[in-house]
Amino acid sequence: MRIPILAANWKMNLSRREAKNLVEDLLKVAFPVSQREVVLCPSTHLLTEVGALIEGKANYGLGGQNLYFKESGAFTGEVSATMLRDCGCSHVLIGHSERRAYFHESDKDCYLKVEAAMQQNLIPILCMGESLEQREAGKTKEVVLGQLSGALKGQSLSSGEKLVIAYEPIWAIGTGKTDTPEGADGTISVIRQELGNLFGERIAQQVRLLYGGSVNAANVDALMACPNIDGALVGGASLKAESFARIVNYQTQASLAN
Ligand code: PEP
Repeated sequence: MRIPILAANWKMNLSRREAKNLVEDLLKVAFPVSQREVVLCPSTHLLTEVGALIEGKANYGLGGQNLYFKESGAFTGEVSATMLRDCGCSHVLIGHSERRAYFHESDKDCYLKVEAAMQQNLIPILCMGESLEQREAGKTKEVVLGQLSGALKGQSLSSGEKLVIAYEPIWAIGTGKTDTPEGADGTISVIRQELGNLFGERIAQQVRLLYGGSVNAANVDALMACPNIDGALVGGASLKAESFARIVNYQTQASLAN
């Protein structure tokens, strides 16, 4: 059974005080812990503090938003996998479309980052997705499978639990537009098939495959009803306790008031 993951990508947002308030509000929410995992990915300056707030909380994980694949050295402004572990991280986002677009990260960079993360026992949340232009040209599968094999082909993976993939169509990120549940589920099932080709069926069935792109309190239930969607990577709606609590509690009646 794949335990769903609801991951929050706070991007370059929130002060220390705002982050503290948000986490404290979230922690008031009861959710079916045995049935889902929550991973908070704050900016680097918040990692230690957020980590301290969620320490010992069942099914909460802490994620970095990026790493550099070298372990240490003269790489001003970068953070390594070892350093993320040192801050208490269990996960790290790799290859988010904003990093690919603004910081020119290639599939090769993603490969090296995934490898570095795994070597330090960090679970990579590898992000991939097509642009609107690519989608309109009917190239979604080709693009996503290229990103998948570019970052993963040749990696050694003993268990699918050590990898998470987020399918995030670029045109859906921060736009309020979401892929249809059927569309997202279809692309994600293609990703799982290819994972089977790369790592074997047993591992492919263990990898959690998330959807990301304007997930919110109103659309999460339908997305999570799809057989291949094992969770969500959430940007904007993860910055408010109320909406993220509702997302974490998808398909249940629980809310922040509980
Ligand atoms: C993201 O940045 O990974 C994301 C999915 O953002 P949003 O939910 O705001 O579309």
